[in-house]
Amino acid sequence: MLVNADFHIHSSFSGGTSQRITMKKLAEGAKKKGLDLIATGDCLHEGWLNEIKEGKMEDGIISYNGMNFILTVEIEDMHRVHHLLLFPSFDSIKEFRRIIERKCKDWDEGRPRILLSQAELLDAAHMAGGMIGAAHAFTPWTSLYAYFDSISCYGGKPDFIELGLSADSDYADRIEELNDMPFLSNSDAHSPSPFRLGREFNRMEVKEITWDEVEKAIKRGMITNVGFPPEKGKYNRTACSSCYRQYSREEARKMKWKCYCGGVIKKGVRDRVEELATFEKPRHPEWRGKYIHMLPLAEIIAHALGVHQSSSLVTKRWNELLRIGNEIEIMLDIELDEIKKATPPAIYNAIKAFREGKIKILPGGGGRYGEIFIEEEVENDLWYR
Ligand SMILES: [Zn+2]
Ligand SMILES: [Zn+2]
Repeated sequence: MLVNADFHIHSSFSGGTSQRITMKKLAEGAKKKGLDLIATGDCLHEGWLNEIKEGKMEDGIISYNGMNFILTVEIEDMHRVHHLLLFPSFDSIKEFRRIIERKCKDWDEGRPRILLSQAELLDAAHMAGGMIGAAHAFTPWTSLYAYFDSISCYGGKPDFIELGLSADSDYADRIEELNDMPFLSNSDAHSPSPFRLGREFNRMEVKEITWDEVEKAIKRGMITNVGFPPEKGKYNRTACSSCYRQYSREEARKMKWKCYCGGVIKKGVRDRVEELATFEKPRHPEWRGKYIHMLPLAEIIAHALGVHQSSSLVTKRWNELLRIGNEIEIMLDIELDEIKKATPPAIYNAIKAFREGKIKILPGGGGRYGEIFIEEEVENDLWYR
């Protein structure tokens, strides 16, 4: 069976998350999105773990309100690099905690800082029976390639690389040492809203949804990675993190990474990959699945209506459309004729433009997301913003 999975999310116990996130809300949001399996996130946190345990655990998967969850946590290491870890059972979490206990000072944080190196964390994760990989590997801060030039700092090979919202497999497969690594594309959602959940996800083939099958599927590589066009990500281009002015790598270097406004210039993922690249063009290994670019439906609706994404009208139209299928089906699978019947023409036209590859992106950078526009609007001077 094909399963849509998002392996990186957070609970309200992680910094930077605001809303009250509950397992129930996550389950609801994931269903509407069209996900079959999602991360619990923050599984080392006692409070969150208690809520997770309200679900029913079987074969390493927790079922809660009709959704499948897998135990995960994001950890910050002694070098401030973020890692994503997956665990098969509550016992393995206990074992992992036992190994790292003395190196962690902030158990109240959903994304704890553990004063170990990459290699030590990799060993600890494997000893506890879990999997580990670099989270948002190319982001200009708190990522592996922000501070290191090679995955060799793990000592051995991690189990996967998470591409992050500003990169796709075309980026990562320009780097030779990643050619034999499985790639994950996850949302890193800080909210249970289906506008955020599953904005990137993995489609994999499994016999059934169990830890063993998921582990095998991750190690084999995904059937499809689905996610943002890299330009949509907020760190795609080199840009100032205060005023978002974009720079070429050369300009930034000349400016000593200080913007005219006094802000700090952050190296974009595109430029970082250019530095690390072994190959001029991506070289995908034969087993690598396709990467499909997808955008949040809410953003497409907001764009079509010329309103902000948080507008109640967007939610209304989004819910209307959801009567014919979940969001992933609407974006990728359902016949356009059927969509035409379910939504006003402006929204239908925008979804059609997306399917035809006519939605373009003004690239993001410095912490600001890229913005979408439709090619024909510019050509026909219908560009209203
Ligand atoms: Zn992170
Ligand atoms: Zn600036």
